[in-house]
Amino acid sequence: MKKHNYSAGPCILPQEVFEKSAQAVLDFNGMGLSLLEISHRSDEFVTVIEEARALVLELLGLQGKGYQALFLHGGASLEFLMVPYNLMKVNGKAGYLDTGTWASGAIKEAKHFGETIVLASSKEDNYNYIPKNYEIPSNLDYFHCTSNNTIFGTQMKSFPEVNTVMVCDMSSDIFSRTLDFSKFDLIYAGAQKNMGPAGSTLVVVKEEILGKTGRNIPSMLDYQLHIAKESMYNTPPVFPIYASLLTLQWLKNLGGIPAIEKINNAKAELLYNEIDRNPLFKGTAKTEDRSNMNVTFVLNDENHTAIFDQLWNEAGISGLKGHRSVGGYRASMYNALPLESVQVLVDVMKDLENKA
Ligand SMILES: *Cc1c(COP(=O)(O)O)cnc(C)c1O
Repeated sequence: MKKHNYSAGPCILPQEVFEKSAQAVLDFNGMGLSLLEISHRSDEFVTVIEEARALVLELLGLQGKGYQALFLHGGASLEFLMVPYNLMKVNGKAGYLDTGTWASGAIKEAKHFGETIVLASSKEDNYNYIPKNYEIPSNLDYFHCTSNNTIFGTQMKSFPEVNTVMVCDMSSDIFSRTLDFSKFDLIYAGAQKNMGPAGSTLVVVKEEILGKTGRNIPSMLDYQLHIAKESMYNTPPVFPIYASLLTLQWLKNLGGIPAIEKINNAKAELLYNEIDRNPLFKGTAKTEDRSNMNVTFVLNDENHTAIFDQLWNEAGISGLKGHRSVGGYRASMYNALPLESVQVLVDVMKDLENKA
């Protein structure tokens, strides 16, 4: 039986993506060849990557606005250093918002390149909220933030106005909600949270911000080179890109980001209402900053742990354990997780209340 998969990443994808990508491994488009054995320069694969790059821009509403979509390797973690390499001037500086483990990972890498200012941090409260009302100096090369904090269950509901380049790590909530994406000059996201299998990283970048640092950038780390080579400087991760294309097509057929946002809002409302209503549970993130993607919560009485764990396991739920730095539980509700799966979890929470 298919489980209700709450894994934080790699994570659930639409069932039709699993089926179609499995089929493509056996016989791609009736070619008599597997997707895994054809040249990445074949017409068939070039069509895949071109469609995927175009569909990213279409879904984000960025077509014809000077942006390029790239499918790179190395995860969001490599972008932590590609961003400063490509955007921080020699003797320049960048400003970062420290909202969690991933944000601080990005800060650590930026420090290799130059002055890296932490504009605000919620570390002292174990990152359970999003800092607000901080000053952004006017002389930054760029501002960096993390839209959704996968581990701590917080999400930026609004973004500051900046008069510099705006960079955002959207790994765990890209394609999940409507935003004015044109406010961002560079967006990056590891595929494995909301777009596809692990192995590819999406970078969406406004071309005009590149080439201004005065640095010599090694080829594989140079966004401009990847753009010039149409995201095929070297052999791209063909399977994750194909599965990502299928997921993007699934999203488009559903009605795009506005349609999935409605479903995501309904899922979040259902689960947060139960957390707030049920006296056995407590949310860990500050209410106004709660993430619609990763819902973090704890049992008020740890003595209920064994029975709660047994109940959700028996209900066919998988991947609910919280990250070790928060403890408790984390329900990751990415785009492909159906509302019915959230109802199953809520029913288990009610069941615990009756039994405890
Ligand atoms: C998972 C995650 C990362 C790290 O992604 P990798 O692809 O494993 O490098 C970075 N940022 C955020 C917000 C994440 O959720």
